[in-house]
Amino acid sequence: MSEIDRLASDDDTRVHDVVIIGSGPAGLTAALYTARANLEPLLVEGVVDGGPTGGQLTLTTDVENFPGFPDGIMGPELILGMRAQAERFGTRFVTEDVTSVDLEGPVKALTTASGRTIAARSLIVATGAKPRRLEVPGETELWGSGVSACATCDGFFFKDKHVVIVGGGDSAMEEAMFLTKFASKVSVVHRRSELRASKIMQERAFKNDRIEFVWNAEVAEVQGADGQVSGLLLRDTVTGETRDFPCEGLFLAIGHLPNTWLFDGVLDRDEEGYLLVDQPSTATNVPGVFACGDVMDQIYRQAITAAGTGCRAAIDAERYLAEHTSAAPDDPR
Ligand SMILES: Cc1cc2nc3c(=O)[nH]c(=O)nc-3n(C[C@H](O)[C@H](O)[C@H](O)COP(=O)(O)OP(=O)(O)OC[C@H]3O[C@@H](n4cnc5c(N)ncnc54)[C@H](O)[C@@H]3O)c2cc1C
Repeated sequence: MSEIDRLASDDDTRVHDVVIIGSGPAGLTAALYTARANLEPLLVEGVVDGGPTGGQLTLTTDVENFPGFPDGIMGPELILGMRAQAERFGTRFVTEDVTSVDLEGPVKALTTASGRTIAARSLIVATGAKPRRLEVPGETELWGSGVSACATCDGFFFKDKHVVIVGGGDSAMEEAMFLTKFASKVSVVHRRSELRASKIMQERAFKNDRIEFVWNAEVAEVQGADGQVSGLLLRDTVTGETRDFPCEGLFLAIGHLPNTWLFDGVLDRDEEGYLLVDQPSTATNVPGVFACGDVMDQIYRQAITAAGTGCRAAIDAERYLAEHTSAAPDDPR
């Protein structure tokens, strides 16, 4: 038996103290802390949608707001550093998706895409969220190169540029106003002739003379080349006519989808699908199951806040294990 097969079969038969699902900043921080607490965490780093492991930061270029990197750092490099740090203290990695979970009883069971089962006394869920996309031509090709779903992260790169924001809710108005700190002009493109945003947010946005509204319009295509957005093809939602709309950046504010389908009917969620935790702890409604990062946070959604809740989940899991370890009936150790 090869070393890799031996480790894999060990992982399949043993009841782990801590298993973490997700390899973004939340999961990797939880791994670092639980590894340094000698809990030998096993981290299942998904390859959801065929994407790279490491979560949303692997889809971006410069990260300029993670403390400790005065010149900024590339998203994938930041994740590789976090992963190496977690590995250094003994975190083990399984690279595949979790496809089902059984969270009843003191030992939790996970099944992966290849059919492996993994057992754990405590589980940290760090499965993140993904921004909703328009699903139009050009969007994927220019994602991270002029197309963004995070004004807080990327607004700074659009100094004196004309950008478009798509959406009509409070987040869209908040992001539009934030973008006026950098952009020369912000066009809000909205499918209807009125906004969903609260009255107060609408008033603020209407008063801002750097914001213009393009009503009854939807993006049919993102245009650009050489990693830069040059404009959009807009379709009139009433007449169906299309027209070119030059701009240098596109921000989406049409919501996020938390990755929580695995926990349907098991873990409590809010109306948007985000996992509910017993704040200020990261405990979910199932004892021994903790949640951290974007999957439980629809407000902040930053790498640093995800890492912060990852730390909290690790400490919560450690305390839970200290109180409950002798209670696990099928402990093979
Ligand atoms: C384009 C872009 C740019 C950004 N730029 C910045 C920035 O500059 N600064 C900043 O602070 N924030 C930025 N963000 C936000 C930041 O990336 C997120 O807040 C952060 O990554 C959230 O971390 P997380 O660990 O909670 O989740 P994620 O990073 O979403 O990671 C989730 C992980 O869970 C895994 N997973 C999901 N389902 C399963 C499953 N069934 N089985 C196994 N694994 C699973 C995924 O594969 C992934 O590894 C950006 C986001 C995007 C999209």
